Amino acid sequence: MNTPLEQKMAQLKQHPVVVPPHPAWPELNNPQKAKLKEEIRQLLQDKNAVLVAHYYTDGDLQALAEESGGCVSDSLEMARFGSQSDAELLVVCGVRFMGETAKILNPEKRVIMPDLKATCSLDEGCPADLFREFCDAHPEHTVVVYANTSAAVKARADWMVTSSIALPVVQHLADQGKKVLWAPDKHLGHYVQKLTGVEMLLWPGSCVVHEEFKSVALSRLRKLHKDATILVHPESPDEIIRQADVVGSTTALIKAVKDLPNQKFIIATDEGIFWKMHQLAPDKKLIAAPTAGEGASCESCAHCPWMGMNSLQNLKQVLETNKHEILIDENIRQQAVVPIRRMLDFAATR
Ligand code: SF4
Repeated sequence: MNTPLEQKMAQLKQHPVVVPPHPAWPELNNPQKAKLKEEIRQLLQDKNAVLVAHYYTDGDLQALAEESGGCVSDSLEMARFGSQSDAELLVVCGVRFMGETAKILNPEKRVIMPDLKATCSLDEGCPADLFREFCDAHPEHTVVVYANTSAAVKARADWMVTSSIALPVVQHLADQGKKVLWAPDKHLGHYVQKLTGVEMLLWPGSCVVHEEFKSVALSRLRKLHKDATILVHPESPDEIIRQADVVGSTTALIKAVKDLPNQKFIIATDEGIFWKMHQLAPDKKLIAAPTAGEGASCESCAHCPWMGMNSLQNLKQVLETNKHEILIDENIRQQAVVPIRRMLDFAATR
């Protein structure tokens, strides 16, 4: 007979997160884009605002962030940049947990996003009330959560990690003889567990984008491109990771394209990252890892539908209307900042 908690966890596995259709923004020609970008630049200046964009957003947004003095980076650097900036208003192009992390670290600043409905399947698949129950049922474990979680989930955690620092943090806990409760990405958790050998209890979440990469199609593609190097983000399933030449965070994969002497790469992560890779290594050939083929769903493509909710159009709107502000209960914020600061302090010692 299952306990009530086990029954709820089983239900969670049976009801996958509903993925929205990819938003269809009206096609803009180059003069229209240039005009919109200029208007946004002016609005950012007028409002003492800075634009912070994730590597998975549209290339036009990434370019605008850089051209206007903002930044393009992974979720950790986005939050760090926000803290170090003098701007009063942080405009986050990405998904909601990124806006929340920026607000948790910068309570005195206003944080807005083009669309607050831009979420993440990992965040959605880890509801805070059930997560708290799960943690309470395993009090002997140290709770480590991935950045892709809500403020309320972070508030229940001992540590927050990003994919770039997950391995050393878990190894550090293992060296102290700790057992780890890991949430929400089961694939990243499994990868960390495999490399560290640490006893970990895994929450059953996954990323809808990385879950779509197909191992048989990937090995076929590799046979066609024998000289290609396979780069994989560790949110991908194990059978994809096992084919990788390099496994790493978004920043690590970009660095691999830039620094390795290889000329051709097959890349298993969101295609938004190609903009930065092309910028840093314009002569290298980048091939998207396959998502179609056997087992593919109608949503199969290597682009996050929630990241796709950010566009030049709604970025301009949110700057004009001042809507879509991230607000976090102060009690939650004060608890959620603890595991984030713990990670930042740990990172600073390395
Ligand atoms: S790509 Fe995956 S992990 Fe990243 S925001 Fe989208 S659903 Fe979440």
